Amino acid sequence: MISVLDKNFTQLNTFIQQLNPTQLLILVDENTHEFCLPILLGNLETEIPFEIIEIEAGEEMKTLETAAQLWEIMTEFNTDRKALMINLGGGVITDMGGFVASTYKRGIKFINIPTTLLGMCDASIGGKTGIDHQYLKNIIGTFAESEAIFVFPEFLQTLPFAQLRSGFAEMLKHGLIADKKHWQELKNLPELQPENIFPFIETSMKIKENVVQQDFREENIRKTLNFGHTIGHAVESLFLRNNMPILHGDAVALGMICETQLSFLQNLISAAETEEIISGIQKFFPILSIAHFNDNEIMALMRNDKKNAAGMINFSLLRSIGKCDFDVSVLPENIVSAIDFYENLG
Ligand code: NAD
Ligand code: ZN
Repeated sequence: MISVLDKNFTQLNTFIQQLNPTQLLILVDENTHEFCLPILLGNLETEIPFEIIEIEAGEEMKTLETAAQLWEIMTEFNTDRKALMINLGGGVITDMGGFVASTYKRGIKFINIPTTLLGMCDASIGGKTGIDHQYLKNIIGTFAESEAIFVFPEFLQTLPFAQLRSGFAEMLKHGLIADKKHWQELKNLPELQPENIFPFIETSMKIKENVVQQDFREENIRKTLNFGHTIGHAVESLFLRNNMPILHGDAVALGMICETQLSFLQNLISAAETEEIISGIQKFFPILSIAHFNDNEIMALMRNDKKNAAGMINFSLLRSIGKCDFDVSVLPENIVSAIDFYENLG
């Protein structure tokens, strides 16, 4: 697997030429169809026949029904095992396209061309594909690596600000768990604009790639990528249940504040670094009002998280900026105290 910044699509063209597939299937959603596909097609240099497959935009589309429709379309197109699927979109498209490609005829090759910041730095990397089922996120899926990931940062020019900020949370996370310099460069950005972020995308991609290469099946170090996600996911689910969905990155920013405070309460990280992290995140992310959620609801959701065994809540917590421990079991009262701490920031 290669992941590259491909500023003028030369590497994509070379890759397709060398692979020489029978057919290209380009999966898009309605937004990437409008904003990204014309740029891709304008740069694609190939005689290989291609088909465009469009789905509606949004997480609600990441279902078995959509997957079944896509398998059907592929059958109609006589797609054979030498075809190449090109996933052009955010995490919904790369998760869905990767899942469908990795299961159709026991697996055809696919590549990811992420078009959101979250996709570029996180979702398109690491070989996890999947769909949601019965209100459970990513509950059905495969571990299947894309042949390659081509990142064209200019796609970010049309991405709504809220989506840009959501992806930025994962970049901050990469700095916090693995690379202090990356964290410091990001926290010092004057404001979130594509041009400001461009120089740091490659480092963020490489941090994720490096972690995944060491532990593809998430048995040890890959768990550090869950920093901010144990509390973050629980709160994200609660907002969703109350018909007030929030973006994933906003939930992760909240989760990272709580879990940094939790790292401090567990005597892992210094007071000075705790303060630096929390004020750094607050510079970009507003404090969300969560006082109306009951702490018990949050705790119950965390206990049900598929990453936990036997009722224990395990966390990935920071030992210092750039160093993250995993499988840390914590005192429940410290979790409640960390959430209360967040509520009092607002
Ligand atoms: P998304 O794919 O829904 O994209 C967000 C929105 O931006 C959509 O409306 C999309 O149409 C639009 N969009 C995409 N690119 C655009 C562009 N260049 N210009 C304008 N609009 C554009 O969401 P996301 O945040 O990219 O991904 C979230 C998904 O990723 C979730 O389903 C999550 O589970 C998954 N994910 C997977 C992994 C993994 O390891 N597989 C990791 C993290 C997240
Ligand atoms: Zn995440």
